[in-house]
Amino acid sequence: MIDVVVVGGGLAGAASAYFLAEEGVGVTLLERGDLNTKASGSNAGSIHAQIPHAPFVENGEDWARGFAPTIPIMMEGIALWRAMEAELGVDLGVATPGGLLVAETPAQMRAVVRKAEIERAHGLPVEILSREDLRRLAPYVSPAMEGGAFCPIEGKANPLAATPAFAAAAERLGARIRRFVEVRAITAERVGFTLETNAGPIRARRIVNAAGAEAAALAAMAGVALPLEAHPIQVTVTEPVAPLVKHLLYFAGEKLTLKQTPLGALLVGGGWPARRDATGRLSASPESLAANLALATRVVPGVADARVVRTWPALVNGTADWRPILGEPPGVPGFYMAIFPWMGFTAGPVAARLVADMILGRESAIDVAAFAPGAKAA
Ligand SMILES: Cc1cc2nc3c(=O)[nH]c(=O)nc-3n(C[C@H](O)[C@H](O)[C@H](O)COP(=O)(O)OP(=O)(O)OC[C@H]3O[C@@H](n4cnc5c(N)ncnc54)[C@H](O)[C@@H]3O)c2cc1C
Repeated sequence: MIDVVVVGGGLAGAASAYFLAEEGVGVTLLERGDLNTKASGSNAGSIHAQIPHAPFVENGEDWARGFAPTIPIMMEGIALWRAMEAELGVDLGVATPGGLLVAETPAQMRAVVRKAEIERAHGLPVEILSREDLRRLAPYVSPAMEGGAFCPIEGKANPLAATPAFAAAAERLGARIRRFVEVRAITAERVGFTLETNAGPIRARRIVNAAGAEAAALAAMAGVALPLEAHPIQVTVTEPVAPLVKHLLYFAGEKLTLKQTPLGALLVGGGWPARRDATGRLSASPESLAANLALATRVVPGVADARVVRTWPALVNGTADWRPILGEPPGVPGFYMAIFPWMGFTAGPVAARLVADMILGRESAIDVAAFAPGAKAA
């Protein structure tokens, strides 16, 4: 019997396999397709720490207070990204020049200040910027902008590099990575579980659910209901341009993330919807593309000179309250959820390590009992 079977070959799964194999646990990762082909390899590569502004505006301060206990996880996650680059010996493209939330109107500015107060109360460094501060820090931003907030620990990493690096390191430590193996049913046995797959039954003492946007379907196989959704969203990349966008940029008016890769390409995202047809096939939405680019150009006029190369869609794993789901559900011991919604690129490695800590009985850097499946937000 395998000690731990990890289901899902995205960042959460590959990092889970790594952190378990590192401690000598017998681990097999099962992935239906190839590694890193879903959200973990298709995202915008933003490394976030702040409370996302759009849901803050939409849902208000009570929502933000419920979400805010996630901030220490994000902060720990950023420290882990930096450490992993050295530990895995791979260039993961980690850079933390800071995140800049830009406001265009006094009303937006007031919302930025209110959000920063909640963030600071949870230990996040955030500096409020006047119009002059903003000009000094980011002269590339439109002079029409009123001010903003700066979080110095945010930044970016390379989604194409991270999952393969964790998977290769896990394999070197003895983990088995099985591509093109799909889990179709799960039965809880007297000891452990049987996973029915297209490659035959597999017995495991414990399971890690790292199935991303399909984690609810996997959990349902073991009779566990999870409040998870899958949303089609898209990202756009331009041709390389001269250095323009120094920070991870957000806009307080509408959904936008904007950053520049080390090779000069601009990545434009923020969670604009993509299309999904009746068969489930995803495609980019031209309306979202136009709106997303118009926003990017409004905030950083220099973006207008960059030519778009590609827009691609992918499913993001979401929860309505944006909180992660980490650990064992009541009634199914040994079935661990490693689910970080919306910002699971930032938090994939740390979520994996927190779940590995639970499996290993190791003390964690952060108490995540409040994020157990079925736990209620405080
Ligand atoms: C367009 C887009 C932009 C984003 N931008 C950012 C960003 O800038 N910053 C950020 O922090 N986050 C971002 N995210 C979110 C982030 O990418 C995801 O939260 C994260 O990658 C989820 O990782 P995961 O490993 O849990 O899931 P995934 O990467 O989706 O991997 C899950 C894997 O499980 C496999 N699987 C599912 N069911 C089964 C089964 N039954 N049997 C076998 N295998 C199975 C799937 O094939 C898949 O490969 C973005 C997401 C999208 C879609």
